[in-house]
Amino acid sequence: MPSSRFQCHATPAPALHNGAFATRLMEMLAVPTFVLDTGCRVMIWNKACERLTGVAAGDVIGTRDHWRSFHQSPVPTLADLLMQNRCDELSQLYPLPAIHPAEDGALCAESWCDMPRVGTRRYLAADASPIHDDGGAMVAVVQTLRDMTDEKMAQAALEQLATRDGLTGLANRRCFDDTLHAEWTRALRQQQPLSLLMVDVDNFKAYNDANGHLGGDECLKRIARAVSSEMRANDLVARYGGEEFAVILPNQSLKGAAIVAERIRSRVERLNLPHCDGAIHHGSGHVTVSIGAATAIAAADTSVQQLVAIADAALYRAKHMGRNRISLPLAEVR
Ligand code: GH3
Ligand code: MG
Ligand code: MG
Repeated sequence: MPSSRFQCHATPAPALHNGAFATRLMEMLAVPTFVLDTGCRVMIWNKACERLTGVAAGDVIGTRDHWRSFHQSPVPTLADLLMQNRCDELSQLYPLPAIHPAEDGALCAESWCDMPRVGTRRYLAADASPIHDDGGAMVAVVQTLRDMTDEKMAQAALEQLATRDGLTGLANRRCFDDTLHAEWTRALRQQQPLSLLMVDVDNFKAYNDANGHLGGDECLKRIARAVSSEMRANDLVARYGGEEFAVILPNQSLKGAAIVAERIRSRVERLNLPHCDGAIHHGSGHVTVSIGAATAIAAADTSVQQLVAIADAALYRAKHMGRNRISLPLAEVR
């Protein structure tokens, strides 16, 4: 009978007894892996783990210092949590959700790690699984790691593209629409006011004519930074379109919105960006904005479109009254 060249034989590992062979196998695995004993001391620290962390096996085996390879200050690894029966601390210590659920008895999590030895932060996905003896007692924990930094960065770049305006870095129109709807729903549920400002650069066509489109772009960037600097953490500034910005002010009354609007108007004026094209002296001689405000106490029979329409109408009045001013509706939308 001809012998096949592809026969598969399970032959004993030459010159290595079973335990040594298993250890050697783990050392050579391409997946960064380490193993802790019952005292949370490192038993195995494989070559891929050395490459990932920049820490040599000889420096860490037999110690409880493995956390130093990942963090500046002590943070228990998943393997420690598993070995010390502290799994209930997982979500507090590793709040980012893992991409796949853990197997029975295992832990998985993702997190940014400082990686002190290599000096660059990496985003690592970790899985820790218990190793039991024949009697069912936990004798070790194995932790594997995956470096997902590139995927995480690519995802962040995509999110940035999807939600940010390329010129100013502010939220884009789509992000504005989504946020406004979300805030409207929240305001309705919590019966809180929601305010909106529409901010439009005055005579910007003339600014472009005098300074060129690139000069106009630079001006828009400076205004975007100025408007952003006046915001609280929960407010959102977006590029609504062209030379128009929109500001969402959650839980802000009309009176409060008027104060913010006036701060923005004055802040932009104080940028002192010259705005004159020789023949025509525009307004104060500096770039200015007009702002329309609206506030709603969200109710079932009002709509977010009404809020936008009222802010738009107020902006139109501010323009009509001579620009470089804020305009308010007579009352909050109810
Ligand atoms: P008003 O005070 O009534 O708002 O006058 P305005 O000239 O600002 O308004 P208008 O709508 O007539 O012109 C807006 C100008 O904004 C025209 C357009 O070329 C310019 N613009 C819109 N988007 C951009 C941009 O991204 N970069 C530059 N440089 N200009 C832009
Ligand atoms: Mg304008
Ligand atoms: Mg406009």
